[in-house]
Amino acid sequence: MSAMALELDGVVKHFPLRSLANYGKAVHAMDDVGFGLEAGGSMALVGESGSGKTTTASVIARLYERDSGGLVVDGEPARPFRSRKESLAYKKKVQLIFQDPFGSLNPTHTIRSILERPFLIHGLANGKADLDARLNDALEQVGLSPAAEYLRRFPHELSGGQRQRVNIARTFAVEPSIVLADEPTSMLDVSIRMGVMNMMLDLKEKKGVSYLYITHDLAGARYMCGTIAVMYAGMIMEIGPTEAVIADALHPYVRLLKSASPSPESGPARARLEAKGEIPSLIDPPSGCRFHPRCPFAKPLCSEAVPELRDLGGGRRVRCVLP
Ligand code: SF4
Repeated sequence: MSAMALELDGVVKHFPLRSLANYGKAVHAMDDVGFGLEAGGSMALVGESGSGKTTTASVIARLYERDSGGLVVDGEPARPFRSRKESLAYKKKVQLIFQDPFGSLNPTHTIRSILERPFLIHGLANGKADLDARLNDALEQVGLSPAAEYLRRFPHELSGGQRQRVNIARTFAVEPSIVLADEPTSMLDVSIRMGVMNMMLDLKEKKGVSYLYITHDLAGARYMCGTIAVMYAGMIMEIGPTEAVIADALHPYVRLLKSASPSPESGPARARLEAKGEIPSLIDPPSGCRFHPRCPFAKPLCSEAVPELRDLGGGRRVRCVLP
């Protein structure tokens, strides 16, 4: 069995609401979230806005601590940090690429100053000459060459694609073993998305990192990742090998997502699966299966108990009473 970079088991994260109107209530951002990511592997975490994908990445990066459930990184169970050194070591190992290439770079700092920080914080450079060499490497490996041209510029002097490349260079500067990429191309023009995705795939191969790639786009998930997990309203609905799930989705919500995604194979005339209603509020999620108010196949028992994420073999797991 392959070594695992990341294991989540029954992770729960709720955000209590403070207002008087919602006193005693909470946003149920993650409930019973569990999956494993093989070392050197890539998993897409797919879902619509508000499905809990970004909270899941934030909990793994430990920007928020989970309420309960297991989190194991590189074989080590996550436990409270006992020192800043432990917290820094974790942040070096698990890095986030943010969605917004405009907001995630300080506009008053040069690219040199932005890129220097991780090397200095983690004590990775051995003197100025070594730091200069590392900065050059960091930019050149993301296709920003000659590096000196970019190091003296400010973020506003770069295009959106170039800024995201700087973000990615900053992520890889600290030699992480796990990269959590939160919709890294969704704010880029379609014409430059593919270049950034290909560059990320090249870096993954060269560096041997593991990717958790967060997206709402099934086509992007298929291009980037061997495994896919689909979230809905704070819970995982289906997990499996990407090609198998996309070719033959078993959960009605995943079938709905597929039906709503453009596909060159099936063309615009294919039958669409329709769901009723809207994505539910995470403050007061539906009882039982969270998809039951919208599911065209719902039965009375679907609103009574939360279905288990059942193992169907072949790496496929589905949270539905049907398959
Ligand atoms: Fe639909 Fe029931 Fe399956 Fe939920 S458990 S997806 S409501 S059939």
